[in-house]
Amino acid sequence: MIRVHAFGFPKLGEKREFKKLLEGYWRGSLTEEELLKGIDELKLKRAQLYAQYADFVPSNELSLYDFMLDMAVTLGAVPERFMPYEGLKTYFEMARGKGALELTKWFNTNYHYLVPELETTAFKLLDNKPLKDYLFHREHGYETVPHLIGPYTFLRLSKAPVRKEEGGLPVVYLEKLERTELLERFAEALLPAYRELLRSLKEAGVRRVHLEEPALVLDVPAGHWEVVRTLYEGLSEEGLELVLFTYYDAVDDYERFVELPVSGFHFDLVYGKESLKNLKQKGFPKGKELVLGLVNGRQPWRANLKEKLKLLEELAPLAERVTVSTATPLYHLPVTVEPESSLPEGLKERLAFAKEKLQELALLKRAFLGEEEALGKAAESERVMTAVFARNDAVRRRLASLKEEDFRRELPYEERDKLQRERLKLPLFPTTTIGSFPQTEDVRKMRVAYRKGKVSKEEYERFIREKIKYAIELQEEIGLDVLVHGEFERSDMVEFFAQKLEGIATTEHGWVLSYGSRVYRPPIIYGDVSRPGPMTLNEITYAQSLTDKPVKGMLTGPVTILNWSYYPEDRPKEEVAYQIALALQDEVRELEEAGIKVIQIDEPAFREGAPLKRKDWEEYFRWAVRAFRLASRAKPETQIHTHMCYSEFNEILNYIYEMDFDVISIEASRSKGEIIEAFERFGRWDRQIGIGVYDIHSPAVPSKEEMKAVVRRAMRVLPKELLWVNPDCGLKTRRWEEVIPALKNMVQAAKELREEAG
Ligand code: GLN
Ligand code: ZN
Repeated sequence: MIRVHAFGFPKLGEKREFKKLLEGYWRGSLTEEELLKGIDELKLKRAQLYAQYADFVPSNELSLYDFMLDMAVTLGAVPERFMPYEGLKTYFEMARGKGALELTKWFNTNYHYLVPELETTAFKLLDNKPLKDYLFHREHGYETVPHLIGPYTFLRLSKAPVRKEEGGLPVVYLEKLERTELLERFAEALLPAYRELLRSLKEAGVRRVHLEEPALVLDVPAGHWEVVRTLYEGLSEEGLELVLFTYYDAVDDYERFVELPVSGFHFDLVYGKESLKNLKQKGFPKGKELVLGLVNGRQPWRANLKEKLKLLEELAPLAERVTVSTATPLYHLPVTVEPESSLPEGLKERLAFAKEKLQELALLKRAFLGEEEALGKAAESERVMTAVFARNDAVRRRLASLKEEDFRRELPYEERDKLQRERLKLPLFPTTTIGSFPQTEDVRKMRVAYRKGKVSKEEYERFIREKIKYAIELQEEIGLDVLVHGEFERSDMVEFFAQKLEGIATTEHGWVLSYGSRVYRPPIIYGDVSRPGPMTLNEITYAQSLTDKPVKGMLTGPVTILNWSYYPEDRPKEEVAYQIALALQDEVRELEEAGIKVIQIDEPAFREGAPLKRKDWEEYFRWAVRAFRLASRAKPETQIHTHMCYSEFNEILNYIYEMDFDVISIEASRSKGEIIEAFERFGRWDRQIGIGVYDIHSPAVPSKEEMKAVVRRAMRVLPKELLWVNPDCGLKTRRWEEVIPALKNMVQAAKELREEAG
C-alpha cells in the first residue's frame, strides 16, 4: 500500500486573499463574519486541492496568524496581561497589540512565529481550534487529519518567566525551556491538556493525528529525550493513530526516535541526509508506518521524479505501510507557478511551487504503481532537470582561479585604519544612518507606476534624484558625518540586486508569508550569477556629487542575498555565495573608482543561514565569512562597513570578527546590555562599531540622554575611538516627522559626548 500525504500548503491564496482579508479586518473595512467567511472559503479551496492529489487532507493548518500562537491559545497559555480571553480580539492583541508576544524566526527559515509565554503551568483547553477546524471540514464533506504542533516542539520553542536575583533585587527573565528541569516541569503539566485535546478529537471521530516535532532535529540533550518519551507514552494511551513529523534536518538519535510509542514516523529526506543513512543501515521498526519526505518543500525546483522513484523503491520494502510526502511543510513556497509569465526562457518548466509539488507527489505514487503515463512523466522530469541550464563558463573559470589572497584585504586592519582616518577625517563618535530613509507613499506609487510602464525611465530617475537630493541636503543640515543616498530606488534590499544580476530571477506573483500578513517575493537563483553592469553606481555617485561629506555606497551582502533567495538544490551554497560575492566585488571596485570612500555591505541574514546543529556551524561560517571577504576586497583606504540586525551575536562573535570589515553597525534596541557584554567577553575586539542608539521599530523619538546612555554603556567595555553613533537599522518604515527630530537628537548626543570626552 502506498499513500500520499502533503502538508503545510501556503495559506496566502493565489491572489494573496489571506493578506487582504486579514488587513481588511484590521483596518476595520471587514467585519469578523466577513473575515471568517473569507477564511473558510480559503480553507475549502485548500481541502479540495489536497483531496485532488493526496490521500489525506490535513486540518488545523490555516491559522489566522500563527500556528504556535494557535497552540498556545488552544492550551490556555495566555499571559495575564491579555486576559480575559475574548476570542479574536484577544488573539490579535497577542499577535500584534501592545505588549504582543515576541516574534522570532522559525528554525532556519524565513517564517516567523510568536513565542508563547508560559506564565504558569496551569494548562487547560481554552479555545479548541483543532477540534473546531476538524468539525468545520467534516461539515463540508472532508474527513481530515488534524496537524498539531507536538508537545516537545511547543515547549522547546516557548519561554517561561524565571525569577533571578540581580544585585539583591528579584528580576524576572523570560527563558527558553532548554534546561531539563524547567522542561520537565512544564511537560508534566502540559501532558494532561494535550491528552484532553486528543481525547476531544477522538470523540469527534478523528482517528489519525499528525504531530509536528521539528524541534527533535535540533541538538536534543539526553534529559530531553526522557521528557519526550514520557510525553509520547502518555499521548499514545489515548488510542489514536499518531504520526510524528520531523523536518529541516535529521533527528540525531535515530534509535530513540523510532522507539517512541506512536504508529508512524516522517523523515525529511532532503535536508536530513543522515536519516536516509540511518534508515538504510539500521532499518525501520516492524508494524510502523514510514512516511518518506521526498519532495522538497523549501525550494521551488521541480523534482527529478525518476531519481525520487528509485529512492522510493529502495526504501519501500522497509515497511508495510509507506506514505510519500513532502520533506518539509509547503508554506516556504509560493502557491503556484502557473501565473508567472515573465520568467527567463526555460525556467518555468524547471519550477514547482506548492501546487506543483502536490502534483509531483501524486505522480510519484502513480509511477510507483507502474502507470505508464506517470513513468513517462518521471523520465521527462529527469530530462529537464539534468539538462545544462543557465551556465556561465566565464564565471566558473573566474571562480576556479581564485587564490587565497583574493579573500584577504591587502593590509591588516590597523594599517587600513590609519589610512582611512587620514582620508576621512571624521570626528570622535562619527554619526551615520543605516541606509534607507522613509519609503513614503509617493515613492511606492512611483515605483509601481514605473514597473507598470505608466511612467518613463527618465521621469522615474528624475524623481529618485529629487529624493536623493532632499535626503542629502537634510543630512547636511542635521549635521551627520557619513551620509547615505536613502535607497529610494529599492523595493527590497535583496530583490533590488536580484533584478540587476544575471542568473537570478524575480517573480511577479511568487509571494510567501513571512509572518502575520507580511509577504515577500524570494528571488530565484537559477544559474551562474554574474553582473552585466553597475547596480548602484548611478544613484550613489549622484548623491556624492551633491556633498563634500562622504556618502556610503550601499550593497546587500552575498550571504544575505543567498539566504533570502531560493537557490539551486544541486550546487554547493558556498559556490553560489562566491559568485554573488564576485559580482559585488566588481561593484565595490567601480564605486571606489568613482570616488566613493565608504562602502557598506549589509549582512542582516548572516546568522540566520546557520545550520540547526552546532556541529555544522564551522563549515557554514567558514564559507559565509569568506564570501563576505571576497565581496569586500576593497582598497585599504576604502572603509568597509557591514550591518547586522535581529541577530544573536553572542555565540557568533568570533566568526563576525573574521569578516574583517572596518566598521560594523548592529541592532541593539532590545538587548543592548547583552550585546555589549558579549564584546566584553570576546576580549580582543578592536574594530569600529556602531551600537544602535535609536530603536527604529518604534515611532517614538528617542531623547539625547537615552542615546548617550547607550554609548556610555558601550564605553565601559570598548575604547571610545571605536564607537560610532547610529540608529538600529534602516529608516524606511518610519515617517520623516519621526526621523528628523530623532536624528537631530542623535547628532546632538554625539556632539555632547565629544565635548565630555574632551
Ligand atoms: N541598508 C538597509 C536599510 O537601511 C539595511 C536593512 C536591514 O538591515 N534589514 O534599509
Ligand atoms: Zn538592519
